[in-house]
Amino acid sequence: MRDFSSNAEVSASSPARLQELWYEFEDINDNDIPYLIALLKDSFHDWMAESNGLPLFSQSALYLISPDMIVISTAGTVRDETSQIAVAQRAACLSFDTHVIEKVEHDGWLAVAVPIMRRTDNSLPFVVITACAEVVDEAITAQLQSASFHLRNCFYRRFERMFVKDILKAQRESEQEANNRASWFAAAKRLYDGIDVASVLSEMMNSLITLYPESQIRLYLSQDHLEGDPRVQSLQFNHPTGDFVAKSFLEAKPNSRMREHGQMDVVVPMTGKQAVYGVLRLKLPATQWNHADFTALTLLADTAGNAFENAKLYEQSNVMIGELRLINELTKRLNQSLKLKDVFHYTTSELIRIYEADCCCLLSYDPLQQQFVVMSSSLPSFENEHFSTEYGFTGVVYRSQEPVIISDYLINNSVSSRWMDETGSRSLIAAPILAGSEVAGIILVGHRMPHYFSYDNYKLLQVLSSHIGLAMSNASLHAEVRRMVITDHLTNLSARHYLNDRIQRKQRTDRCGSLILVDIDKFKDVNDTFGHQVGDRILVQVADIIKSSIRGTDTAARWGGEEMAVYLPEIRREQAYRIAERIRMKVEEETDPKVTVSCGLSEWTFEDEKVSVEALFYRADMALYQAKHNGRNCIYVG
Ligand code: GH3
Ligand code: MG
Ligand code: MG
Repeated sequence: MRDFSSNAEVSASSPARLQELWYEFEDINDNDIPYLIALLKDSFHDWMAESNGLPLFSQSALYLISPDMIVISTAGTVRDETSQIAVAQRAACLSFDTHVIEKVEHDGWLAVAVPIMRRTDNSLPFVVITACAEVVDEAITAQLQSASFHLRNCFYRRFERMFVKDILKAQRESEQEANNRASWFAAAKRLYDGIDVASVLSEMMNSLITLYPESQIRLYLSQDHLEGDPRVQSLQFNHPTGDFVAKSFLEAKPNSRMREHGQMDVVVPMTGKQAVYGVLRLKLPATQWNHADFTALTLLADTAGNAFENAKLYEQSNVMIGELRLINELTKRLNQSLKLKDVFHYTTSELIRIYEADCCCLLSYDPLQQQFVVMSSSLPSFENEHFSTEYGFTGVVYRSQEPVIISDYLINNSVSSRWMDETGSRSLIAAPILAGSEVAGIILVGHRMPHYFSYDNYKLLQVLSSHIGLAMSNASLHAEVRRMVITDHLTNLSARHYLNDRIQRKQRTDRCGSLILVDIDKFKDVNDTFGHQVGDRILVQVADIIKSSIRGTDTAARWGGEEMAVYLPEIRREQAYRIAERIRMKVEEETDPKVTVSCGLSEWTFEDEKVSVEALFYRADMALYQAKHNGRNCIYVG
């Protein structure tokens, strides 16, 4: 009814002017007429009550007739209803056409019709009142005309009252809206104050409860949060009721539907800048739900989404800072030593510290044996144990090259693991140490409690394992460089300086030791006869014979040119002589082309006056000289 656009003057006005004019100009328009019947009936009733006793009522039948000839109300004295209405309608019809009072005579009945004009257009009737009788004189017409004014007043009084009611209703609504807006605003503001995810979410739900006290609120989240709050559930994609919620999540659109018992079911996605995080669901009596609330609700859910996102980013960055600190500490510790064994031990003890774990084990892959060797274990009985690449969780990680998390070994024990059994672990995180595309090692971290490790723990181990891998390869590179420095590359014997250092160290702690100098006889001739390459081969053959003739604790070195030296710790010269003799014989028998060696032997004991590397070598050298002098292919003791 308040279609201001139908009134050009009003719609052109400013809102303030509009407010001033609305009452004055407010009028019915053509579109309203079908809806006015009830109002007209009531107005007619008012008029009748107010004009009781008018002679008009006894003199004629009165009909209130609409533009489509519907008899809205009847009053007065009716004699022949059908005929009288027919005549009255004829008169009304004419009057609607001409906009003036009309009289029609028919079948012995006379009807007079008085048009009732709109108040903003005094020439446009919206209803007609007719009086019908056998005789209609001037007096009746005059009464009817004044009745029409009275009736119009009654009508507009009701019309205005209806408007005031409308206005009051609108005012109440806008007050409610303003209140709501204030609440929404306060809720949004509080959301931004929340720094942790849990408080953001409960704040949002608490705000909603104050806004919709009779509602049931649920929050469906795509990720785990707010454990323990029954209002928060995880988003289900194949749950029967999940479809309504999941659809809103997937399409990032709000939606509503009517349920039984007049309940409204409203879903609004919780959207941040980067993603949709969940769906807010409200079930409330339909009477409390206003469709216009969608805008505000969506805004609140989006605000919550953004706050949630910020809080999550904040949490994530805290986790990341923590992780970086751990990585920093770990790498610092690992790099304190370049010894591989130290790196292994640091790793296991650091991982136990970082995760507050019960046990940790580090295995290294041995490509020659194609198996894993335990390099370091918090359970000492596992040190140096070997495991096949098929076995246990090591096997699982080796095959997949991916980390593994086991929340309860007792329940999920499709894989059997001696390590888990013997450490009594129920939780496990394991990660491969990758060298390029190969698994170079595996880390196992366990705890006796089930469900001990979180997903973040598992992700962190993956990051740590790459740093551990780096520290390991640094240490092995270092070991390799060191090996190269102390090893003669042709014969694979130790270098001279290494032998010197070793004898010196041994002389500090041991009680005795022997040195054998081995020199190939007439080697110049061998080179001259067969060439240098064959000479080199013979050097390797002699070196191999020496290596195979001594114990692991003995050290053989290339002393220079075709001269080699063997140091035998805690060995007296008699036994050293037998070893030298074995070497001498083997060389004579096994070398090809055949060569012989001469040996000079010396020993030291703690009883010597002066114990030194130089003295030991000097005496061995003298003995060698004697051996050469006395025909070669023999051993002399200095
Ligand atoms: P003697 O029995 O007195 O020890 O005679 P010799 O010829 O072995 O002794 P000499 O010291 O005169 O010569 C050592 C030779 O060893 C000289 C050199 O050509 C050869 N030689 C030293 N180092 C190497 C090496 O790395 N490869 C080869 N092929 N020959 C070497
Ligand atoms: Mg020689
Ligand atoms: Mg020589």
